[in-house]
Amino acid sequence: MKKLLLVFLAGFCSAALMAADKPKAVLIMLDGARNDAFLSQGYYPFNNPTPLGPDYHSTVSFSTMTIPDAPANSAPNHTAIATGVFATKSGVKDNGYTAGGNYSNYPNVLSYLAGNFKTAFLFGWAESGQIASSSPEVTYINVGDMEVEAAALKALADDVDAMQIYINAPDEGGHGYGFYPHSRQYREKLDFTVDIINNLLAAIAERPDFANEDWLVIIVGDHGGYGLSHGMASAHARYPHLSIISKKYKDGVFTDSLSVADAAATLLAHFGVKPEEHDLDGKAVQGNVRPLMELPENLDFVSYERSGDELPFAVNIDTENGFTVYMRVNAAESQSGDAPLFGNKDWQNGSNPGIVMACNYPYGGTGPGYIVNIGLKDKPNRSDIGSFDPLPGQEVGLIVSVFPDDRCFFMEYRPDGECYLLTEPVPGTNMESGMPFYFGQDGTGKYPYTFNGSIKDVRILEQPLYPEQMLEFCRRYMTEE
Ligand SMILES: [Zn+2]
Repeated sequence: MKKLLLVFLAGFCSAALMAADKPKAVLIMLDGARNDAFLSQGYYPFNNPTPLGPDYHSTVSFSTMTIPDAPANSAPNHTAIATGVFATKSGVKDNGYTAGGNYSNYPNVLSYLAGNFKTAFLFGWAESGQIASSSPEVTYINVGDMEVEAAALKALADDVDAMQIYINAPDEGGHGYGFYPHSRQYREKLDFTVDIINNLLAAIAERPDFANEDWLVIIVGDHGGYGLSHGMASAHARYPHLSIISKKYKDGVFTDSLSVADAAATLLAHFGVKPEEHDLDGKAVQGNVRPLMELPENLDFVSYERSGDELPFAVNIDTENGFTVYMRVNAAESQSGDAPLFGNKDWQNGSNPGIVMACNYPYGGTGPGYIVNIGLKDKPNRSDIGSFDPLPGQEVGLIVSVFPDDRCFFMEYRPDGECYLLTEPVPGTNMESGMPFYFGQDGTGKYPYTFNGSIKDVRILEQPLYPEQMLEFCRRYMTEE
């Protein structure tokens, strides 16, 4: 009897050991990485199949935002990525505040792993190095972008279990040349960054005990940018990249709205530490994932080929299940007011029910830009997205897609193939204005400012499209002459 029990236990133990691969993680923080720059570059999903082989999946987010209680600048968001808490708890409300952060209550989350796991924080920005740990066992390494890869490879060779890595390059490119998918220098910095990440992934895959390890690689931006800067309230700056390579999540797109602070919580959960026990604002990312969607060959859209004198014209759109509007737009050299391109709301007040897409002169912009405004039922009563600033005289494709009570995506597609994507949540979407949709006007048909550029090839779908489908839609119809 005793012998039988021992045999049974031995069998049970080895099965248990086999099931539990050793958790390992790298959290890669990219300074100034706009999400749409990655989409425009074709990095979605991030290297699929991933260099980590068939057991691993690549999952991307189209809805990760910077923390809500601080500007879209590095210090508060670096701190959130490393500690899992927003500025109210961390005390890091903007750049320059990191040294005074509340790390006795909310340390770098590597502190919760130190002791049981080998941990390292590789930072290149001196202020980031001030995000303190509560454990002396977390190794801090000050290393710039040119040496970060070698330092990370060395940490891997030294068998680090959990590592945070900082890469500054995207921010440098953005401040120097513009945080734009069309900025060649910005894209070169992203390429440089992607090379580092791929080299790390390759090194992970070659580890001698890789087959018995369970890797989680989180790639997260601290903020995006607009023009040569960031910190503004628009999604240009508040919508950074986030993707995860893991065995845990399926290939595709996270459907939940995420925060950059979720990176820290997700890292902890991977090592069996419950984020909720440490009063974090970030939550471990859940496995709600949809596949990347193809754009159907046959789309049931209504199209209008009208312009100039034929504007404005009114149409009815059933918005209940969501909708998508696409058009090709070319702004005139001068444009006064915030002229509607299309809309079903009274644009005299952006809090009115309905939607409007308009052309205006954005702050910092040198020419006309395009924005979208949507009415919401509850305060703040409105959601504003934009602005996109095309080059003077440049015809672009504009496509907006609304998932009611969830999210609005707004994309500008340029003839050279670059795309810009912005997103905002639209909880309590209020589309019921009681007015038709006008093209070339707002819902009243009488807005005092009129768009004096051209609108053509209007296509309306009474269904929402996902960002990857919006991009495909533009590629398909923008090239057709
Ligand atoms: Zn910056």
